Parts: sequence; C-alpha cells; structure tokens
Amino acid sequence: MLAAFTDAPAKRWDPWAGSAWNGAIAEAAPPGDPGARVRDAQDKRGGGEVLMDRIWHDESGRIDIKSLDRAGLERFMVDELGEKRFRALQVWKWLWQRSARSFDEMTDLAKPTRAKLEQAAFISFLELDTCLESLDGTRKYLWRLHDGHRVESVLIPDEDRLTLCMSSQVGCAMACTFCLTGDLGLKRNLSPSEIANQPLQVGLDEVARRRAIGLPDPPGAYRPITNLVFMGMGEPLHNIDNLCTSLDAILHDHAQNYSHRKVTVSTVGLVPKIEEFAARTPVNLAISLNSSNNAQRDAIMPVNKRWDLEALIEACKRLPLPNGKRITFEYVMFRGFNDTLDDAARLFRLLKGVRAKINLIPYNENPHRDIRRPDDADVKAFQAYLFARGMNCTVRTTRGIDISAACGQLGKARLQVDGLEPMVATG
Ligand code: SAH
Repeated sequence: MLAAFTDAPAKRWDPWAGSAWNGAIAEAAPPGDPGARVRDAQDKRGGGEVLMDRIWHDESGRIDIKSLDRAGLERFMVDELGEKRFRALQVWKWLWQRSARSFDEMTDLAKPTRAKLEQAAFISFLELDTCLESLDGTRKYLWRLHDGHRVESVLIPDEDRLTLCMSSQVGCAMACTFCLTGDLGLKRNLSPSEIANQPLQVGLDEVARRRAIGLPDPPGAYRPITNLVFMGMGEPLHNIDNLCTSLDAILHDHAQNYSHRKVTVSTVGLVPKIEEFAARTPVNLAISLNSSNNAQRDAIMPVNKRWDLEALIEACKRLPLPNGKRITFEYVMFRGFNDTLDDAARLFRLLKGVRAKINLIPYNENPHRDIRRPDDADVKAFQAYLFARGMNCTVRTTRGIDISAACGQLGKARLQVDGLEPMVATG
C-alpha cells in the first residue's frame, strides 16, 4: 500500500546495547568516533537509564546524519571529513529536499566524498508499521522505531490545508489524567531525525498516493503538507533540544522550508522552557490550558502543581511576540467539569491582557475514561460568550475518531494490540 516506504532500510541497531550507552556516553566513545564531540546524554531517569542521547550512531559507530542541524552538519563535514564548508549545504539539500536514501545519489559530490560519508554516517528513515485511514480522510501513520517503540503521526486534510500532527516523545511524562498517551508514561525522547522525518515521509507518501490515482503533484511536490502541529504523542518542551534541532530541518529554506507561521508547538505549560523556546525558535506556541482556576487544573494536570496558572500566564505575558502573533490556548471541554458560562467568564478574565486565541476541544470520549464530552449547545454557548467579548475563539472538530487518531487517543490503541497481529486498515 505504501510503495514509498517499502524499500526503506530497516535500522535495527540498539544505541543502548553495551555498557558504553549506559551513563557516561561521551567519555566512553572511542577516540576518533565522529560523533563523540556532539554526543550528549541529555535526559536521564532514576537508575541512570539514558532515555535518549542527542546524536545516534549505528553499531559500527556511524552517525545518524539527519539528527544534525545545519551548523552540526557543517562541523561534521569540515572537522570530521575534512571537506569544504559549502559541501554541507549540498548534503543538507539532498537529505531534506530531495529525500535521498543513499549518499550514492548525491551526484554533485565527488565519489571520494560520498565514500567518506558512507563510512562515517548513515541516512535514517522511519519504518512504517501501519497506516490507517479514517472515513473522514484522516490518516494515522504508526511508525516502528529501531528499538521496537512506536509513535504516531496524524495527517488531517481540510479544505485548504493539509495538517500533520506530530509526535515528539514515545509516551509522555506529564500524566494529564484525561489523556491516553499519559498512560504509557515516558518511554523516551524522539531523536531529531525521528521528529523531522515525520513530515518528510508523510509528504512523500502523500505525493505517491496522488500520483497513483493520476492527480497532479501539488505545488512544491516535495512538501505537500501545509501545516505542522506538535500535538501528537509527548510533551515537546520536555524534549526541547531535539525539538529545536529538528526544527532546523523543518524550517530551513534549503531543507523542508516550512514557514514558522505554519508550525505550532503545543505544551502543557513547562514555564521555564517557554521562555527558552521563544528565544530559540520563531514557531507558534500553543498552551493546553484546559481550566481557568488552579483547583480545577490541579485535578487534571499534575504540571499545575509545579507551575500554576499565575506563573503560566505571567510567562505568556512576558513572551516577546512578533506583530500579529498570538498564543493559542487549548481548552479541552469536559461535561460537567469546565463547560459552564461561569468557566467561560473566568477564562476570559484569566486571559485578559494576553495576546491569545482560544481553541475549544470537546473531549474525545474513549472506553478508558469515564469522561463525557459536553453537549454541542454548551460548547456553542461557551464560544459565543467569549466571541461576544472580542476573544478569537474556535472549536476544534473531531477528526479520525474511528481510527483512534483524535486528540488524546494516540498510543493507547497500539498498547492494547502490542504482541498481537498488526492493526488492519479500517478505511
Ligand atoms: N503535551 C502537549 C502536546 C500534546 S497535545 C500538550 O499537552 O499540549 C494534545 C492536546 O490534546 C492537548 O491540548 C490535550 O489537552 C488534548 N487532549 C488530550 N486528550 C484529549 C481528549 N481525549 N480529547 C480531546 N483533547 C485531548
């Protein structure tokens, strides 16, 4: 079904195999290892378990070249391979604009350069496990990672947009009570290449599908997706280094070339990271607010006990927002919990003075939670209240519910069928 991926080389190495991967990675790396200088264990859990190192290597020590940002690739080409600086741009374009699968394809590089690259680096692609298509046209891509973990991306076609909802971690540590991804706990961070390959590969698949039914290529065929949102699995700001590295391959005009206006990162509200995020990248920020007072928010989002609403809103007010930019506040609506006009009034007061737009998300019901979505009439009244007071307020339509691709549903379906036969397409 997905011809574009079937020939993808399956990478099955395990970066944690052997003692070198447990703990002091940089020290343990052999001298001359191309990645030693940039390798950086960045996230640890109790017991010294390394969740994710910055740059990955295969078992023969070759570097995952797609996990380097532009500057990193330049350093690699110059310092490790002894090449001229401008060669990095050629490689960068081959990787992110032409989706090269091998260094041999890079025909504007001399053969010895290609041979050096081949020896020191490899080109990673995500391995597709399953692709499910919803009756509404939404597609869920389930990727199998080299260590057996799985993550998902969801492609959502709309009239004039094609939005990809991306994942940043396997599972999530934030433990929001209503969210099924939270049930997994955090397994590990995604590497930069595992993040940036999501739009690249879904884009390739989209073009292949269009061609297969005789449709012309969309404008900018290598990049048919129009919008990216980090609203899939994981807390992106909990993986901010890899996120920012991947954004280089997403935004750079000689890479995937997305406009920062078309990319949105959604966070539970990790307050210290919000400022860092704004300093490091120009993309849009969305905050999962979900409540208008601390008692309510404490009950559903543990993060609020660490950084409460006052701290969060203060951080938002301090953000240097360029002209015309607003922060999106997502507000999941639960029946009988936060869906009254009193809640709307409190939300309005809370966001006074913030350049905000509100996105109401009626809760997506599921068999794992005894939580109900509000009546449509209550959602409409809530929206009308805010709208009448000049708030920009939209309601998110539920998409892909039949394939468990809707907000908050990612990860769970797979968890249940793990070890069984792969899921089959429903659409
Ligand atoms: N960790 C980030 C990114 C995940 S985004 C964040 O929390 O923002 C996922 C969005 O879906 C969040 O706004 C979350 O509040 C919302 N969500 C989670 N479960 C949901 C559900 N069952 N129905 C509707 N929205 C849900």
